[in-house]
Amino acid sequence: MPSVISTDVLIVGAGVAGLWLNARLRRQGFSTVLVESATLGGGQTVKSQGIIHGGAKYALHGALTGASEAIADMPRRWREALAGNGELDLSGVRLLSEAHYLWSPGTIAGNLTSFFASKAVRGRVDQVKGDQLPLALQDKRFKGKVYRLAELVIDVPSLVQRLAELAGDGLLAGQKIEPLLEGGVLVGLKVDEREIRAQRIVLSAGAGTAALLEALGLTQPAMQRRPLHMIIAKGPGLKPLYAHCLGGGTKPRLTITTHPASDGQWVWYMGGDIAETDGVAREPAEQIATAQKELGQLLPWIDLDSAQWATLRVDRAEPLQSGLTRPDNAFLAEEGRLLVGWPTKLALAPDFADRVIDSLARDGIQPAAAAPLPELPKPPMGVPAWEQLLP
Ligand SMILES: Cc1cc2nc3c(=O)[nH]c(=O)nc-3n(C[C@H](O)[C@H](O)[C@H](O)COP(=O)(O)OP(=O)(O)OC[C@H]3O[C@@H](n4cnc5c(N)ncnc54)[C@H](O)[C@@H]3O)c2cc1C
Repeated sequence: MPSVISTDVLIVGAGVAGLWLNARLRRQGFSTVLVESATLGGGQTVKSQGIIHGGAKYALHGALTGASEAIADMPRRWREALAGNGELDLSGVRLLSEAHYLWSPGTIAGNLTSFFASKAVRGRVDQVKGDQLPLALQDKRFKGKVYRLAELVIDVPSLVQRLAELAGDGLLAGQKIEPLLEGGVLVGLKVDEREIRAQRIVLSAGAGTAALLEALGLTQPAMQRRPLHMIIAKGPGLKPLYAHCLGGGTKPRLTITTHPASDGQWVWYMGGDIAETDGVAREPAEQIATAQKELGQLLPWIDLDSAQWATLRVDRAEPLQSGLTRPDNAFLAEEGRLLVGWPTKLALAPDFADRVIDSLARDGIQPAAAAPLPELPKPPMGVPAWEQLLP
């Protein structure tokens, strides 16, 4: 019979939201248990592009939106953590690029005028030329303008690895989750028959949160899934590129990030508008052909013929919004001891943790003396999509 555990905060879902929150709480002296039913970070987190947005992409809409405001401080907070002197010690996490770039291939000045007028990017965007250009754009045939954004790109698997280290003995592989009720009140969860009592329970299970709420007999907060059809290319001719390529509209037409594969080659991971509605409707072969055509026009000097190609269908999980527009901030809803939310972006994991910590402080929740945890079964690490699809 598994032991009964008492902890301050029980978190369900070990993507970036749960892992980051867990590490913050432990640093503040709270005892925690973090339950994961599949792999650490293996949901959306290791499928993300790793861009720590500061809001520049949203400023393309021309107006300073809520998103631009809330997210503007995230690059600084991540930088401090990566340097080992922030809210978490993330030293050792691999930084893939000091900057993300905005690349305008044609003459779409109207779009960029409002962009540069926006407070979200003022003083944080510099035009780059010549040998300052990203390596993949350094070719005499390159036309267009490139701006360096004060945003960084991180290697997400190494982030997950570090956050798992910071989780200490608190990780628990668990499948079956049921409510633990006392007098009709939720006091914890039963995880694979093991009772875990907690002062607060946080659901940060990404796309799995709706089913968890259902298991607890709840229907709110409602969530939405936003499907994406990402493109992956791996090959010896690919050079590092971290950029939003602008089209005529308010969304980047193509967002390219570059990631190290375990065999030493670079992987281009491509999203943006190409991966949204029209891209979702395309079959994988058609989606690959679309990306090849787009890249062939934009970057004819890059050798794409020797690359291997794949696509990845993945849903973003977010709180329900009208018209599938992007949520602006990390989201947290509260019901008694239960806190439920989505960071809505990898970059906003610190904002998600702030919201939970503010809620604990508001309710006077303090670390209580907790017995040491027994040895718990650990969830495995999530694996990047290209290692599975293009081994
Ligand atoms: C293709 C793509 C690219 C992206 N690029 C970026 C980017 O560049 N920058 C950025 O800021 N954001 C990006 N995002 C968004 C970002 O990835 C997500 O907002 C973020 O990773 C969500 O983290 P999470 O912890 O909420 O969810 P997830 O990473 O999905 O983690 C949820 C975890 O809960 C677990 N779980 C589910 N059900 C249960 C259960 N019943 N019991 C226990 N565990 C459970 C899952 O297995 C999973 O590990 C991207 C998203 C996608 C899909």
